[in-house]
Amino acid sequence: RSKLDGRGTFRFFEPAMDARMQARRQLELDMRHALARREFQLHYQPQMSLASNRLVGCEALIRWRHPERGTVSPLDFIPLAEEIGLIVPIGEWVIRQTCRDAMRWPQPLSVAVNVSPAQFKSDRLVETIVSALSNSGLPAGRLEVEITEGVLLQENDRTLQTLHRLRELGVRVSMDDFGTGYSSLSYLRSFPFDKIKIDRSFVQDMSHKPDGEAIIRAIAGLGKSLGMTTVAEGVETPDQIERIRAEGCTDVQGYLISKPLPADELMTLLAPR
Ligand code: C2E
Ligand code: MG
Ligand code: MG
Ligand code: MG
Repeated sequence: RSKLDGRGTFRFFEPAMDARMQARRQLELDMRHALARREFQLHYQPQMSLASNRLVGCEALIRWRHPERGTVSPLDFIPLAEEIGLIVPIGEWVIRQTCRDAMRWPQPLSVAVNVSPAQFKSDRLVETIVSALSNSGLPAGRLEVEITEGVLLQENDRTLQTLHRLRELGVRVSMDDFGTGYSSLSYLRSFPFDKIKIDRSFVQDMSHKPDGEAIIRAIAGLGKSLGMTTVAEGVETPDQIERIRAEGCTDVQGYLISKPLPADELMTLLAPR
């Protein structure tokens, strides 16, 4: 927003905006050192199969322990990391650390990493995954890559080639936050995903809106016809889980099962009793 100041000239930066930009610039500077300073951490959120009521996998979710600001949400720094290109080294760390951590689990659960659009386009993704798998010894079949439709937005031959190369390695590919974008359905046509993750907004709507189950039912049916696993995200109540089960989803993830846990707490959860 701009406004005329007393002398009749435009002032483009109001003090509040200036402060916001300064805060942003500082966050950017801090982020450039965060990897070397080991301020990033991965939490893992379990996913449960509704057929067996057993844990089948976990999703790796990054956390930034900022020395002054405390924990910064990925929703606040991932977009910035994308903009300034830092997402490539950060994403690479996520992939390597995830593979190492998953190798130590007492059960061979699958593990999912989120890959954002800029990282996906970076040439290095497939190489990074190949080397992370071989360095850690994690079988490719245990690794899953979650992408949002942002990756397919400027769909081109290279995007599809990357997806197919991952698939050839044996890595599975999931469509994250399904249903929230502009044309989720058409993206399902461009690549045979292994898994659809139903955005948690639909799970939440289920309890508040009449016919709220209709969308979950439709996506579960779609997944079934296409041979894809369907995971409902953000399940928080026993009522939601029963309704999701009734609508035919295969898996669930959410606070009801477990919050995202630091690596050592996950180990405790998975330890044989
Ligand atoms: P996402 O991939 O859709 O991850 C699910 C988000 O929902 C996580 O938020 C998780 O903590 C949250 N969640 C899980 N269960 C529940 C629940 O029952 N209720 C509620 N209210 N929330 C639940 P988080 O960890 O803050 O991550 C937010 C987003 O940041 C992720 O959304 C993903 O898009 C991005 N992200 C996280 N880690 C990474 C990463 O390593 N790389 C990239 N590129 N993106 C990441
Ligand atoms: Mg995800
Ligand atoms: Mg999601
Ligand atoms: Mg999301």
